[in-house]
Amino acid sequence: MSEIDSLKAQLESLQSEALESFALAASLSELQQLRVNYLGKKGALTEVLKGVGKLPPQERPVIGQHVNATKTALAAALDGCEASLAVKAKAERIEAERIDVTLPGRSSTSGALHPVQQGLDEMTAIFSQMGFAVAEGPEIENEFHNFDALNIPPEHPARAMHDTFFVKEFAEGEQSEPMLLRTHTSPVQIRAMKRFLEEGHEPPLAVVAPGRVYRCDYDVTHSPMFHQVEVFKVDRDVSMAHLKGVLKHFLSTYFEKEVSIRLRPHYFPFTEPSAEVDIGCVFCAGKGCRICKGSGWIEVLGSGMIHPNVLRSVGIDAEAFSGFAFGLGVERLVMLKKGIPDLRLFFENDVRFLRRMGS
Ligand SMILES: [Zn+2]
Repeated sequence: MSEIDSLKAQLESLQSEALESFALAASLSELQQLRVNYLGKKGALTEVLKGVGKLPPQERPVIGQHVNATKTALAAALDGCEASLAVKAKAERIEAERIDVTLPGRSSTSGALHPVQQGLDEMTAIFSQMGFAVAEGPEIENEFHNFDALNIPPEHPARAMHDTFFVKEFAEGEQSEPMLLRTHTSPVQIRAMKRFLEEGHEPPLAVVAPGRVYRCDYDVTHSPMFHQVEVFKVDRDVSMAHLKGVLKHFLSTYFEKEVSIRLRPHYFPFTEPSAEVDIGCVFCAGKGCRICKGSGWIEVLGSGMIHPNVLRSVGIDAEAFSGFAFGLGVERLVMLKKGIPDLRLFFENDVRFLRRMGS
């Protein structure tokens, strides 16, 4: 075989081998690599061209034409493969990014206030609107504010009825005194009255004090930590009628319907006279049902006229001024309003319950 025929044969096999590999290329980068391998400066075609120098001068243009034809064919084939790969890649991308508009959306769940907190806020707001100032006090109290000043002296049986959590004595310098977790929000009554007088004011004074309280108790209707709202007003000539009016307005506003109330004589050390307050059952409208045990009435809170001893303990003239006070259980009212059967649901942190009650 002559030199020129051998070169032609080389070019032909190079071309067919190249076209085959172009067709098999799976990506644009692979094609780019093949372009370099065949048409690059150090590529296969350049290798073949090296053989041209060995040919006699008159044969060189002939083989030159062959080389150019091969070059053109390879370049055209590469361009063609590139274009079809690009189309294929685009189609694949569209397919991969296809959005199924029928899928349900990813909703974000937003948190909500705990039902007890909602109740506290609602109740506090109602009293605020009636002109009561909001006050707070410490949850760790001394015996003076929790008991003594509220007309519950150390030997008083009511002291034993409050199942009290005592905490380690707080030593301040030489003095130390027993401390406890407050068993009711009534100590805020004492603190608010004292502060009010210290600031040089004279009654009238009307306060709402929401907060946490603690007792050693745990069952369907009792939790060791629960919430109360303490409400009181001190002024000249405050009477039971004012108490009843405030209660009726509050309860009707809270339950969003006209509720009937009744006051039953009762005993509390810090009020005299004292009354337990019942509302007409909000479930059966007084006809009698399971919740009200057939009576048509539900007990909701304790109330009364502030005992003169309590007013005296903070230095208010009990002859000139009188006041009413009541403390309501927040959980109890929320349970009645929302129809929640078990107090413990509030504190078990079951998200299904909290989601249903959140708003
Ligand atoms: Zn009922």
